[in-house]
Formats: sequence, structure tokens, C-alpha cells
Amino acid sequence: MPIQAPTTPEFEAPRGEAAVVDARTFDHERVANETKHWVRLTAACNSKCVFCLDAEAQDGRFMPFEDIQTEIRRGREEKNATRLVVSGGEGSIHPRFHDAIRYGKEVGYRWVQTVTNGQKLADRQFFLTAMDAGLDEITYSLHGHTPELHDRLTRTKNGFQNLMKSMMRAVRDGRPIVNVDVCINKQNVQHLEAIVALCARVGVKEFDLLHVIPQGVAWDNRADLFYDPEEHREALRRVFRLARSSQFHIWTNRFPLSHLEDMEELIQDPHKMLDEVGGRRTLFRRYLDTGTAIECRDTERCPHCFIEPFCSALDKHVADHNAARFEVWWVGGRTDLAAELPGGASLLGVSEIPNSYAGPLYLRADRYTPDVSLPVGSRIVATQPEHLAQLAGVTTEVEVHLDKAMCAALLALPAIPATWILHAPTRATAELSAQLDPDWRAFFAALPPGTRAQNLPACLCPGALLERPLRILDAALFHDDGRRAIEPFVDRHIRETYRAKSSRCRACPADNACEGAHIQSIRAHGFRQLVPLDGDATATLARLACISDVSPRLKDGAPPLPPPPLVPVPGNEPVPFIDLHAGRRS
Ligand code: SF4
Ligand code: SF4
Repeated sequence: MPIQAPTTPEFEAPRGEAAVVDARTFDHERVANETKHWVRLTAACNSKCVFCLDAEAQDGRFMPFEDIQTEIRRGREEKNATRLVVSGGEGSIHPRFHDAIRYGKEVGYRWVQTVTNGQKLADRQFFLTAMDAGLDEITYSLHGHTPELHDRLTRTKNGFQNLMKSMMRAVRDGRPIVNVDVCINKQNVQHLEAIVALCARVGVKEFDLLHVIPQGVAWDNRADLFYDPEEHREALRRVFRLARSSQFHIWTNRFPLSHLEDMEELIQDPHKMLDEVGGRRTLFRRYLDTGTAIECRDTERCPHCFIEPFCSALDKHVADHNAARFEVWWVGGRTDLAAELPGGASLLGVSEIPNSYAGPLYLRADRYTPDVSLPVGSRIVATQPEHLAQLAGVTTEVEVHLDKAMCAALLALPAIPATWILHAPTRATAELSAQLDPDWRAFFAALPPGTRAQNLPACLCPGALLERPLRILDAALFHDDGRRAIEPFVDRHIRETYRAKSSRCRACPADNACEGAHIQSIRAHGFRQLVPLDGDATATLARLACISDVSPRLKDGAPPLPPPPLVPVPGNEPVPFIDLHAGRRS
């Protein structure tokens, strides 16, 4: 019997107070971040989606079952993963699909999931065999509320009918968790509510809403796929608001951050950037090793891309290195790396005062005692309120790292010395940001105008004189052979340089010189904390004068940076490009 899609949504999204990430989000995240291991069974698919990210990698191969077994075991042994995702291409077209599920359970995965177009699973016996093999979760890729729309986007005859038949059977069966991925694009954005309503009617209440990104054939079909989320703001928000209903689980994936204002609980965990970059690591590896430009780096394309903050941070870091603009070479305890400071650095960043180094240091206050005289140009980093008393008389510059306790201690002082710079640290998680961040605006408003500050947008430190934080080149970003390491760089990006702005920032005189607030601060306190500056733009820009060399992001219209040559760490020789798919390390 043909399936009738509802023509109008049958429910109204609940209305609630604007919320930032909270305990429910953290619980969701803990489940979502259970270590997953993806195993690709095929590089082939029985659909041909117009937005496929993977089309270029699909050469029709079916992986040998022995290789699949090895890869499934590797996830348990090396990653200790407890969730297995069997995928492709389309995993279900592999003749050993059921054996792969069974094998996953045999080697100890708690949970086995597949992401599918539902065509094979529409067959009753095929579905039942998958259930008996131990399949726990089926994620259907549904992109339209009607056969016409879904089949057009997936270029699959009867794709919608088969998928819905399969989905209804899976829900009726009751054994698997059933959820839906939707790739939101220009063709279906206005029907998103109807897609969700259709699934809800069938009994599916969990959705991952993926924003189309400019990769694979999606970019070839860009005229038909890319859209302005602002134009569809209300339709999107009606669906996003369902996340506040206890009946629905809504996730977003790769959605442009500034369009999630007042919906910050839907900002995906920033650590997903590791997966995004990992999926393209060959491109990044080649860029870092040989200077070959990332082939998709393009002023038209990158503004649509979720990874853009990372690519811009990487370009900026490499450009700073090439131009020798770093100020600190951070080695921590590795004082053996202090023979020569690379990247233009003049300060050595250490966790202990070294015996055999006479130059200026960048040093944590817990390693400093007033009886030691530091070389001229050194900087001390204070992280605990008790550090302040011993630093009161020093002439060396002091970077005071702020949290609620530190702010209270500073407000209790009669005056803040002119050598002190108040630094707003970024936090590793939104939970920490919620716990540790003071009310920035109230804190700075209580201080005298002209107090030195860094690492905050101007709107959060009224009256302060903003300075650019020292550029720190961390030895941990390099392999021993001098090659830049990718994963530590992504970690550092997430921890320090991953920032976001409100779409309201366009009205702010600081917009061009401002990177916004750190992602975890946005998740903890919302975009609403960012308030465009008003009044005298000249006075505002004077406060920002010290940070005017902040590179504009590519999305703001700057051209891509030229590809950089490899700059090795002194004493280390660069090595040629290594093809990671040949099994070598990154
Ligand atoms: S932002 Fe990076 S990954 Fe995205 S299209 Fe541009 S270069 Fe490619
Ligand atoms: S551009 Fe945005 S984040 Fe930056 S100071 Fe202005 S309002 Fe704040």
C-alpha cells in the first residue's frame, strides 16, 4: 500500500525558555561519545545521493571479509571501542553484511549500528536475519517527506517506499533503536517539519539533522543544494525546538554555529572536529608536509564548510611560523629542546626554571619564588589567587589567568599593578566554562578603565585595553622528526582557537578585528552574552588597536593564504610526505 506523507505537520513544537547546554545535553554527549568504531564494508552504494560526500571514494569495491574482521577486531583491541558502526558506501549490500554484525558481537561490541538507505532492509527475511545477527540500531537516511523529493535527492527508484517499509517494520519489531539522518539542503529545508512529522507518525523520534557541506558531489550540485539558513530560520527553529521536548532527541551535525543562537544546546560537541579533520587527514598531511594547497580551499566554498574555523586556524598558525611571529617556544619539561628557539620566539616556555638557560622565560607562578631574578622580558603566569601576594612587587610582566576565585581576589586588591595583564583562559568543556567563568562584563565594569586584558571579545570586557595574547608555539605540536602533528593541532584548536560569533556581530564596530568567544563559552553561556558595541567606533577601535593584526577568517572574504613551505623544528629534519592510507602514522 502506498505510504501517504502528511501534508501538514501534526504537532506544534513546544515553546520553552532559551537554554544553553545543560545536564541533559551532557548526558546525551556522554552516550554519543562512547567510543565508536566505523567499519566500511563497501566502497559502493545502491543509491546516488546528489549531496554524497563520499562519491569520489566509491569505486565499487566490496571489502574482503578477512579485512573486515581485522578492522572490526582493531576497533576493540586498539580503541577499546564498544560501539561498532557497519557502513559503506552502503554496508547492507555487502554479501557478508550479517556476518559482519555477528562478528562484531562475537568480539565484544556492546552495540552494533548501521547507517543505511533502507533498500535491502526492506526485505523481511533480510531484516530478520540482521536482527538475529545482533543489530541494535538502524539509522535511516531519509531526505524527503514524499517519494518525489526523497527519490530525486537520492536518485533511487522506489527509494522512499522501500525505506519507509523497512522503517515501519523495524519500529513494529521493537528490537532495534530506530533513528533518522536528514541532510538538510535547499530542496528539503522547507519540508523539514513534514519529514519529522512523517517519522513521528511512524514512531521515530530521534533525528540527526546534517547540514549539507561543500564536499564530494555536493559541491558539484551546489546551485541546487546550498541555501541561506537565515532565510529559513523559522522553519528550522520550529524543528530545532523539539529538542526541548522530552519525547524527541534532536541532534545537529555540521550546522553553522551562528544560526544556533538561543539553541546552543544543539551545538554539537566541538570534539567532533577531530573526526571531521581525521576524515580528510591525507589532504592536511600533504599540506603540512609539502605545502600543497588543500584542494578545496576556496573563498566561495569554505564559507559553507563546518571545518572552516580549523582550516583558518591552521593557515594562520603556519603563516605565523613562516613569518617568525611566535613569541613563546613552549617546551614544558623538555628543556633539551631549548638550544635554539624556532618560529621567531624570544621566550622559552617551561614548567621548571632550567639550570642551563639564561634567556627570558614564560613561567607558571607556582614555579617562581621572589628570591629568583628572572631575565628581562620574562613573563609569569598566575593561575591561583595565592600567587597574587607573592607577585605584588615584581617588575616582570604577569599574566593573571581568571576564574571566579581569581576575579574575587583581584577585586579585593586596592589596585591592579600596571604590569599585570588579565587573561581569560579557554576551557576544555562547556561544563568547566559554566563552573569557572565569572560574569565577565560585570567583573570588568568593576575595574578602572584601561585595565589590560586579553583573550576576550571587546564586548565582554568593557573599558579594558585589549592586548593580543602571546603567540605560543608548542613543541607538542611536532613529531620528533619535525613534522607537524595533526591530532595535537586539532586538540589545541578545539581547546584554544575554536571561536564563534553571533550573526548580530555584523553590527559591531569591532567585527573585523574580533574572533568572537570560545566555543565552550558559547555553549555554556550562549551567544546572547555577545552584545555589539555601540557609541564611538573610533574609541572602540582604539581599545582594540593592540589586536588589530588578528587575521580575518576566510569566511570574512580574505583570500586563501599561499601554501607554506615546511618549517622544521631546529635540529630536526623534515621527512617527505607519507601516504597515511599505506598504514604509516600521521
Ligand atoms: S574549510 Fe577546509 S575542508 Fe572546508 S572546504 Fe575549505 S579547505 Fe576544504
Ligand atoms: S564582534 Fe561580536 S563578539 Fe566581537 S566585540 Fe563585537 S559583539 Fe562582541
